[in-house]
Amino acid sequence: MIFNLFKKTKPRRSAVLLIYTGGTIGMKEDPADGTLKPFDFNALMEEVPELRKFGLDIDTYSFSPLIDSSDVEPSLWQSLVNLIFEKYDDYLGFVILHGTDTMAYSASALSFMLDNLDKPVIFTGSQLPVGQPRTDGKENLISAVEIATSRDLQGRATVPEVCIYFNSKLLRGNRSTKINATGFDAFSSPNYPPLATAGISIKYNSSYIHYPQGSHKAFSIHTGLDTRVSILKIHPGITEQAVRDILLGSGTRAVILETYGAGNAISKDWFIRIVREADRMGKVLLNVTQCLSGDVNMDLYATGRHLKDAGVISGHDTTTESALGKLFYLMGSYSDNAKVKELLEMNLKGEISK
Ligand code: ASP
Repeated sequence: MIFNLFKKTKPRRSAVLLIYTGGTIGMKEDPADGTLKPFDFNALMEEVPELRKFGLDIDTYSFSPLIDSSDVEPSLWQSLVNLIFEKYDDYLGFVILHGTDTMAYSASALSFMLDNLDKPVIFTGSQLPVGQPRTDGKENLISAVEIATSRDLQGRATVPEVCIYFNSKLLRGNRSTKINATGFDAFSSPNYPPLATAGISIKYNSSYIHYPQGSHKAFSIHTGLDTRVSILKIHPGITEQAVRDILLGSGTRAVILETYGAGNAISKDWFIRIVREADRMGKVLLNVTQCLSGDVNMDLYATGRHLKDAGVISGHDTTTESALGKLFYLMGSYSDNAKVKELLEMNLKGEISK
């Protein structure tokens, strides 16, 4: 990715860096074929003159090319993380405009790639382009900027976390998932309460927000990612060959098993044999539930216990999006799979209730 626009004068106190990656919020209909395509950042800013009313200095940074988030690659996350690191001292907070389709993946990944964060990094976007009547983009953008610059009486960031702001709710990024393809209420964090809700004013749920503890370590980043992860969604009728291809394929170091209910999968011998073989090959096998809320308990049913006995580890109440980002980050940081498994079980960035 190449940054094609960066407008900044001198470092200022009240400032936010607004980073534009693409997504519906800044799209316009292409008259040639009627599909939505990204337009440039200046046009987007012109659509939201309300931002000026904050009296904040807002700097902008635009990626090129602007993308529909279905095209997001981990290289975008690396570019975002490097950009935030480079500009960290200059801003109170960061707002990232991003398509909704993969926003939960990006917010999850960034939560693991940024360490000792003490400033807000707020993802937002919209279901309707900002230039269209009834757009949700304006409110999402305006509130995201307000949250990114909000400070308490001691001058500390009100929400020093990677979050998604959407439809009046501020959600922890690595707990979020897209739940609605067309409605304005597109995101939810079913296993963790919202960090804030916006009405006439923004009400922060400070008891659920993570604040840096004790002597705060310096902000740092991780950009090494190992993407050799596959996701196997269990379903009735899944074939032995399909399971074999995914679990035993040479291109995967880890497999996320998306299982039924509390972490249950097929109890047939062929299935368990393949899982055992994958474990013997040294693969990292992580159990995540297909359910929107609740968590994995492999001791509840025999069908879950088989997986535990075969070496599968529990993803607890993590989202698949978060499990993927955590695995990319852990495998990029550690070559030893035993260490990856040990850290997978731990709550690193508020991603699991443990
Ligand atoms: N396809 C779009 C994207 O993810 C959808 C959106 O932004 O809402 O970029």
